[in-house]
Amino acid sequence: MNLAEYKGVYVFAQQVDNVLDGVAFELLGKGKDLAKDLGTDVTAVLIGSGVKGLADQLAEYGADRVIVVDDPELKDYRTEPYAHALASVINEYKPEIMLVGATAIGRDLGPRVCARIHTGLTADCTSLDYDAESGNVAWTRPAFGGNLMAVIMCPNTRPQIGTVRPGVFKKTPVEGKEAEVITEEVTVPAEKIRTKLLESIREAAAGVVNLEDAEVIVAGGRGMGGPENFKLCEELAEVLGGAVGASRAAVDAGWIGHAHQVGQTGKTVGPKLYIACGISGAIQHLAGMSGSDCIVAINKDPEAPIFKAADYGIVGNLFDVLPTLTAEIKKLKA
Ligand code: FAD
Repeated sequence: MNLAEYKGVYVFAQQVDNVLDGVAFELLGKGKDLAKDLGTDVTAVLIGSGVKGLADQLAEYGADRVIVVDDPELKDYRTEPYAHALASVINEYKPEIMLVGATAIGRDLGPRVCARIHTGLTADCTSLDYDAESGNVAWTRPAFGGNLMAVIMCPNTRPQIGTVRPGVFKKTPVEGKEAEVITEEVTVPAEKIRTKLLESIREAAAGVVNLEDAEVIVAGGRGMGGPENFKLCEELAEVLGGAVGASRAAVDAGWIGHAHQVGQTGKTVGPKLYIACGISGAIQHLAGMSGSDCIVAINKDPEAPIFKAADYGIVGNLFDVLPTLTAEIKKLKA
């Protein structure tokens, strides 16, 4: 493999039902930074059926080029046809770096494609940077059950591919940007299609938490004292139009579902406002929320480490502070 032949930063632009996933925009933002370091450009790879119209949105978030693979067989995600399409694009265009969202689809697609094209994959990254000294991407991900953060490089093969958790990077729109759109003909051979989608059943909307896209998160920890008290977080989240998060201690105690967990072994979030209630601020929790624009901590212990990460701290009993905050915000909105 001649590594020098591989050039450019590519982003897999995941779409479902012709709606782009937010992680595609986040990765384009990071892709732009990497491309700047490498003196190259950013290409989005858009796979689906009737998806060409989405190219403009990818340009608005930083894509210089959009390669579109459009085929009725690619309407719904299935591993084999999508892996075939993405591997074909990689073989043809030879990217140096490929970023894929660590979504259910990305976690399925990334390893399959890497096995086909004989390169390495760093899965489920929580950060990444270009290492100028070695000329490789330094991918960071939790290892050994999250007890240490491993930095992984792929020096011998190209492209360097990683799946990156949603919420790790910010979306950075570029006003008025346009992209070159290239339509790539990829025929998916019939023998590559071994599965047929009979029916897709959507998860019921109720109870689904979308922490990664929430602009406001009110998160509760062990200090909430029990499951019934999470209604205080819910009430504040409701008046602020936000979602409810939790520390692992609260999730492990069975007070709230794992889908709400923020942190190294939970979700990585970056809302405009993160209100941590009765959360001490352990390093594993901070790993999932320190990218928030504004952090407010409510804790009765003035020495709690969360105050070091917070922009605003309220030292007090959350059972007094939360209802007061909710009532005051309601008054302001009335
Ligand atoms: P505690 O540390 O017990 O803190 C409770 C806080 O509530 C205290 O600061 C206390 O002063 C305050 N408090 C109590 N009562 C009140 C009150 N009435 N009013 C105001 N404040 C009050 N943790 C995560 O959160 N996410 C993860 O993804 C995660 N992954 C992990 C992975 C590994 C490998 C390991 C080893 C640990 C992980 N942890 C994770 C656990 C982490 O180390 C902490 O144990 C956990 O975050 C603590 O949760 P907490 O802050 O809610 O509880």
